[in-house]
Amino acid sequence: MSELGYIQNRLVRAGIEHDPDGLLAEATRPGMPVVAIAGEQAILHADGGRASAVLPAAIEAETPRERVLLGMLEGRPLAGLLYEAGVADRIADAPSLSAQDLRSIAVQGTVPADELGMLAQAKSLLSWHARHRFCANCGNPTEPAAGGLRRDCRACGAQHFPRTDPVSIMLIARGDTCLLGRQKRFVAGSYSCLAGFIAPGETLEDAVRREVLEEAGIRVGRVSYVASQPWPFPSSIMIGCWGEALTEEIVLDRDELEDGRWFHRDELALMLERRHPDGLITPPPMAIANHLMRAWLTGRAGPAPGA
Ligand SMILES: [Zn+2]
Repeated sequence: MSELGYIQNRLVRAGIEHDPDGLLAEATRPGMPVVAIAGEQAILHADGGRASAVLPAAIEAETPRERVLLGMLEGRPLAGLLYEAGVADRIADAPSLSAQDLRSIAVQGTVPADELGMLAQAKSLLSWHARHRFCANCGNPTEPAAGGLRRDCRACGAQHFPRTDPVSIMLIARGDTCLLGRQKRFVAGSYSCLAGFIAPGETLEDAVRREVLEEAGIRVGRVSYVASQPWPFPSSIMIGCWGEALTEEIVLDRDELEDGRWFHRDELALMLERRHPDGLITPPPMAIANHLMRAWLTGRAGPAPGA
């Protein structure tokens, strides 16, 4: 579980809504540590041998476009700052700073695992601010409020809160086999769990059943929850499930999947270990699909008690 990316977060969020503006003002004083995002990249600080997501201070000579309160770090408020994308290039000469996208940071383990969560949080929240500058109700400009935990519209009084988009992702099993598919954009030989956004008014379980029926023509019966993962591209939560296939014949939706088939558990084990004779592989350990596969192989994913 510890290898799953973005799930550990050293920040304490509980209670910050009591005085978010006061805490943000404190967190953005000169010389206070910050988390910084520039476009799609995180700015990291070289802390001895290893990079850290926490910069000792805001970047000199650059003005952030957005400032938000993220939470409390070791008793002190921590702000997230959004810089324009060009800052990631302009810090190239700074000896202690570097820029890297969040996927690479998680795959390569560039920062400690318990700092990935705060990067995901900062990226999602700051991206939301950058993309919600106008009121969805009346079209007038909105402005940050409550330390950046909200945006308000002065014209119509609407309050807008950051959104998280739920995505179902599922390991579908039938006896000793599981259903995996690949999209055209995947790296060569890579197969993964099926996944899809949960529709308005839909349960998680029905979303799993609908996605698998749509993409692979397989009917699914029992579904149970396994684990979740923040996915800051831009602001999803991946909700990982196990599901039991009721049918076997696969009918692929070729618009969604380039290929899809049943894999025996022994074959899946070889793929996870990168020892498959045909070079087939799975997503890396930082991805929840990898976690769901391993959970199924070791008996940790299956029907909920009483299901
Ligand atoms: Zn409005």
